[in-house]
Amino acid sequence: MTTKEVIIIGGGLSGIMAARTLFENGVEDVLIVEKSRSVGGRLATRRIGEGKADHGAQFFTVRSGELQQDVDKWLEARWVKRWFGNPYPRYTSTGGMNDLAKQLAETIPVKLNTKVSAIRDGRDGLLEIELESGETILTNHCIVTAPVPQALSLLPGMTEPQVSTISFAPCFVGMFTFNGSSCIPSPGHTDENLPDGVERVVDHHKKGISQSVTVSVYMTGEWAKKNEMLEDDGILTEIQRVAEHYLTEGSEIATAELKRWRYAEAETVMRSPFVEVGTSKRIIICGDAFLRVDDEAGRTRFESAYLSGISAGERVACKG
Ligand SMILES: Cc1cc2nc3c(=O)[nH]c(=O)nc-3n(C[C@H](O)[C@H](O)[C@H](O)COP(=O)(O)OP(=O)(O)OC[C@H]3O[C@@H](n4cnc5c(N)ncnc54)[C@H](O)[C@@H]3O)c2cc1C
Repeated sequence: MTTKEVIIIGGGLSGIMAARTLFENGVEDVLIVEKSRSVGGRLATRRIGEGKADHGAQFFTVRSGELQQDVDKWLEARWVKRWFGNPYPRYTSTGGMNDLAKQLAETIPVKLNTKVSAIRDGRDGLLEIELESGETILTNHCIVTAPVPQALSLLPGMTEPQVSTISFAPCFVGMFTFNGSSCIPSPGHTDENLPDGVERVVDHHKKGISQSVTVSVYMTGEWAKKNEMLEDDGILTEIQRVAEHYLTEGSEIATAELKRWRYAEAETVMRSPFVEVGTSKRIIICGDAFLRVDDEAGRTRFESAYLSGISAGERVACKG
């Protein structure tokens, strides 16, 4: 049976930052276990024909000195660019948001396509990480970064009243290729004067990440809740009606795809960057819903995931 010093469940931004922090602090026997076929989680980019479309986070903002320092390095490496917004810039990845996650995770050991099904106390004070495949990994410390409802399902019997109250809103995103241009104004993002139920619309060609014209239409959490019983086709037809507003004369929609996020954004947050649970408190739950006490934005986002992951990594590193 494999034994690791630290297992991190989830290869989204918080898991990646927890791993990077552990490495920086000399803890190298670390493995990220990720159920999908790529790292990134909600930093998600889909390839559609010759084009690309971000369908999770579109951009991020920076309030903390820690993130600003890293962003300055990422700007120099051309991993990210200022997209729009003055005086508060919206940064985005130059190759799609998922590329940034891949670049940050490049040197970290990750076991992909591997879903964790349970975490329990094992023998000799170790934790047992049970995988859906039936395999078990033993570890001294476990950092769980899955969205809270998914994290709690791995820890049956765990009672942490504050954490149990964290709920997430869903989001539906329609991705369309246009065989001509869109009338979304440069630089390709709009969140104003939109029809009811629409949160934002993005043209990835104008954003600079896609060769062809791909347009993502984000519906609000409220709209998604109202329509979550519909089949995918029904939802996509509704969203396509919105996308059609942005066709220029003569252009048409060539392809349409849907992404349903069950856990997009936390509706309630925790005012602590992580919680320690389990009998020996060697299981840490963190992620974008865990905010530092001085977090001024007060909501889940790229930066809250980034900071929560760093705090969780530092906590485990200082325990040795
Ligand atoms: C539609 C949408 C739009 C958004 N827009 C913005 C935006 O514009 N700006 C912004 O700042 N933020 C935005 N966000 C939020 C931002 O993307 C997230 O806050 C951030 O990416 C969360 O990172 P995370 O690591 O905490 O969680 P995640 O990215 O969700 O990572 C968790 C990982 O855990 C994995 N996992 C779950 N269960 C298991 C298991 N049992 N075993 C193994 N792996 C597991 C998942 O596959 C996932 O990769 C948006 C999110 C969505 C969904």
